[in-house]
Amino acid sequence: MKPAPRSPILLTPGPLTTSDRTRNAMLRDWGSWDSDFNQITARIRERVLAIVHGEQTHVCVPMQGSGTFSVEAAIGTLVPRQGHVLIPSNGAYCQRLARICRVLGRQVTTIDYTEDRQVEAADVDRMLEADPSITHVAVVHCETGAGVLNPLHELALVAARHHRGFIVDAMSSFGAIEIDARRTPFDAVIAASGKCLEGVPGMGFVIAKRTTLEQSEGNSPSLSLDLYDQWTYMERTTQWRFTPPTHVVAALDEAIAQYLEEGGLEARGARYARNCKALVSGLAELGIRSFLDPSIQAPIIVTFHAPKHPAYAFKTFYQEVKQRGYILYPGKLTQVETFRVGCIGHFGEAGIPGAVRAIGETLEAMGIGMGSRMVAA
Ligand SMILES: *Cc1c(COP(=O)(O)O)cnc(C)c1O
Repeated sequence: MKPAPRSPILLTPGPLTTSDRTRNAMLRDWGSWDSDFNQITARIRERVLAIVHGEQTHVCVPMQGSGTFSVEAAIGTLVPRQGHVLIPSNGAYCQRLARICRVLGRQVTTIDYTEDRQVEAADVDRMLEADPSITHVAVVHCETGAGVLNPLHELALVAARHHRGFIVDAMSSFGAIEIDARRTPFDAVIAASGKCLEGVPGMGFVIAKRTTLEQSEGNSPSLSLDLYDQWTYMERTTQWRFTPPTHVVAALDEAIAQYLEEGGLEARGARYARNCKALVSGLAELGIRSFLDPSIQAPIIVTFHAPKHPAYAFKTFYQEVKQRGYILYPGKLTQVETFRVGCIGHFGEAGIPGAVRAIGETLEAMGIGMGSRMVAA
């Protein structure tokens, strides 16, 4: 067998670069009935719950599929059919949340912001005051579209004060940015294997408040995405209800072991913050400005203004940077030409300086480097 070619470094917010240890954990097969495998599932559930200090109040329910499957499972199961969901929205993933509600036939109201702003707890407060028909507030913690960190704790307190349900898409922040169930009230926090825990993609999980989940039987319009059924079956049998993504589970277990060895949330968050800082300052030296105000930038993914130059095209830029070993991400904004660079994943401290160098060389090769263009003021 030939050795696998060296993979490029993924500077994308999931799938992301994983460690050899994590990938090697997928080199054996597991039976879904086997008690060794089911112990792995149990260990993941326990450790994930501990990351948010939810042991006393919440349960962790894993779900097959990409992160969106778990969001859909949470909305469909935890919001009753007559529910009405309020979504403060500042980007693509907030819009996806709203879309899920509509598809599932849940009434939805949004408060819309531009993508360069945080959503505001005061606006949610006013809406809840004005409209008693709203039963739930659903928010995105880190809006991966532009990279904005939303004020989760304040939003949670507002929902709690009005006695409404509170559901969080924490997909791109979970494990790196603190969420503490002991002080931030929530009914559900949703995350996935292939983001800040640095596993491979293929499963998500919902950390649900036990008392809320207990009351959610029969809500789900879906069989496979019924979180209540998945939970009760797993509690009863220790097994997944339908075929588990065994290799993904094994890899996540190994990834979480490394997460804990690294020092858990604090160390992971600090590493990403260092990556983010090095990235923003490195590209600034090349004349490339980040899109967001630094005060609302999450250290997860950074949106940059594309160079204003006739020779710039994202496709060429992407291919040139890829040839140098790094995979970037297209922008997700509608109004301005941007590209995105992720700060998350298992790459050494040289990863970011290497990427900055690759981008610099690419700009030179495209004839739009510092030497050949005016830097916009
Ligand atoms: C990645 C992500 C998701 C899930 O996307 P999938 O493509 O289904 O994995 C949901 N919300 C946010 C904020 C994300 O970053």
